[in-house]
Amino acid sequence: MNPIYAAMGTTIFEAMSARARASGAINLGQGFPDGTGPQAVLKAAADALTQRSNQYPPMAGIPELRQAVANHYARHQGLNLSPDEVVVTSGATEALAAALLALISPGDEVICFQPLYDAYVPLIERAGGVPRFVALQPPEWRITAEALEAALSDRTRLVLFNNPLNPAATMASAEELALLADFCVANDLIAVCDEVWEHVTFDGARHLPLIGFPGMRERTVKIGSAGKIFALTGWKVGWMCAAPELLRGLAKAHQFLTFTTPPNLQWAVAEGLNTQDDWVQAARHNFQRSRDRLKTGLEKLGLVTLPSAATYFLSIDLTASGIAQDDVDFCNHLLDTVGVAAIPVSAFYAQDAVTNVVRLCFAKEDATIDGALERMAKLRETVG
Ligand code: PMP
Repeated sequence: MNPIYAAMGTTIFEAMSARARASGAINLGQGFPDGTGPQAVLKAAADALTQRSNQYPPMAGIPELRQAVANHYARHQGLNLSPDEVVVTSGATEALAAALLALISPGDEVICFQPLYDAYVPLIERAGGVPRFVALQPPEWRITAEALEAALSDRTRLVLFNNPLNPAATMASAEELALLADFCVANDLIAVCDEVWEHVTFDGARHLPLIGFPGMRERTVKIGSAGKIFALTGWKVGWMCAAPELLRGLAKAHQFLTFTTPPNLQWAVAEGLNTQDDWVQAARHNFQRSRDRLKTGLEKLGLVTLPSAATYFLSIDLTASGIAQDDVDFCNHLLDTVGVAAIPVSAFYAQDAVTNVVRLCFAKEDATIDGALERMAKLRETVG
C-alpha cells in the first residue's frame, strides 16, 4: 500500500456520522442538508434516466451543461467563460484530483490555507507535491501578505484556495483576493480555486471569484459543485473551468479518473442552472434562517459562536465559551454524553492545529436543530 494511504484513518466526517448512527445521536457533524433539492431538477434527472441516453456522454461533459455553467457564471459573477472552458467532473472532488494530478510535478510546492478540506493534503502528496501551509487564525481567519511570503519558495507552483472557506465559514474580502491575485501574478503561480460554497452565502454578501481578478483569467482553475448549489450532495456533479491551454491538461487527468459523469444527472443539473435561480436564492435564505436559529440557541446556552458568512457551518469558540476541553474531547463528550455529533476543527489541520473550535452543521430541519439544542442544554452540567 502507498504509505500515504497506509497511514491514513477514515475521514472524520465518515467516522462521526457512523458513531452518530450507532448511538442515535443527532448528527450536526457531516455537512449534508435535510430536504430534497429542487423538484424540477429531480424530475429532470428521473425523466432523463428513462427517456434519454444512458451511454457514455462526451468526456468533457454534455454540451448543454457546459453551456449552462458558462451562462450561470456570466449571470452571477460577471465572468466571460466559453463552454469550451468548462469540463464536467464527478463532483468537485474529482475536479480537485484532476487539477492537482495534472498540475503538480514531483517536488512542486503547493501553498494551501489551514484550516483546509481534508482531501487536499493526500491529493497533493499523492501527486508528488509538497504542501506549504498558511495558518489562518480565528476569529477572522484572514490572509496576510506576510503569511503568503513566508510560505513561498522557488519550488512553489500552485496555490490551492478554498473560498468560501469550509470549516471557517468565511468569505475572503476583495482586499484579500486582490492580495492573493497579485501574489500569484508576481510569482507566476497557478491558483486552483475550490468555490463549491459560492452560492451558500449570507447577509447579502456576493461571492467574488479569484479568476475575475486582474492577471488571473489565464492562471486560475475555478471548481464548482452542483451538489452544493442544489443541496444534492450525493449527486457528485461538479466542474472545473479554466483557460483552454490549462484546461487541456486537466482534461487529460480527468479522462483517466472517471472519464465522465452520469448523463441524466448532467441534463438535470443543466436544467437546474438554467431555471432554478429562484430556488437557489430561497435556499440561501432558508440556510441563513437555520444559521440564526442555531446561533441564537447556542448563545442562550452561553456558547460563543464565530461569525458564519457562508457554508452550512457555524463554529463554537470553546475558549470564549469558558470551556477548558480541547475540540476533540469536547466532540467526544458531546457525542457520548449529550447525543449530538459535531466536528473538531483541528481535523482540518495538517500541522499546528487550532484546537478550541468546534464545527456544527445547521443545514437541518428546525426540529433537528431544536432537538440538538435541547440535548445541549445538558452540556453545562456535564462539561468540565
Ligand atoms: N471542497 C469543499 C471545500 C467541500 O466542502 C466539499 C464538500 N463538503 C467538496 C469540495 C466536495 O464537493 P463534491 O461533493 O462536489 O465532490
